[in-house]
Amino acid sequence: MTSKTQPQAESPEVEKVEKTDAEWRETLSDDQYRVCRKHGTEPAFTGAYWNTKTSGTYLCACCGQALFSSDTKYDSGSGWPSFWQPLDAAAVGTQTDRSFMMTRTEVHCSRCGAHLGHVFPDGPQPTGDRYCINSVSLHLEPVPDLRADGETGGGKKAGEAKGS
Ligand SMILES: [Zn+2]
Repeated sequence: MTSKTQPQAESPEVEKVEKTDAEWRETLSDDQYRVCRKHGTEPAFTGAYWNTKTSGTYLCACCGQALFSSDTKYDSGSGWPSFWQPLDAAAVGTQTDRSFMMTRTEVHCSRCGAHLGHVFPDGPQPTGDRYCINSVSLHLEPVPDLRADGETGGGKKAGEAKGS
């Protein structure tokens, strides 16, 4: 029997994800494409996660890199998911954005360059930062419920929970 077991090790080096515009357009929804690749902004209070309190990790919707933890998510009242710190400083990149006659700091995924939102200096302590992120740029991976008491369900996974 040739059963190949691939250890699910986290590779330390961040491999850049680069796709053409056409490829992104194919893999992303219209909203995701508009926000992540064209620096759009979803309307406030409309996204999937602005009011979410579920524990988990927020991944990049484009490439799956872990970006933010629910531990640092807070209610900023802005209508967008807000975090006071990224999961890892290396996970996000920033650049100055002077569009709309404002000087803001744009935030993007360090792996695939997806536009996420902006960071403002009016967040809560300990960082004082407010990462104001579009829901559509994120995908929440909820923390598995650990209350299950010793059932012998060794890794049974039925069906695919993946949407488009
Ligand atoms: Zn990404």
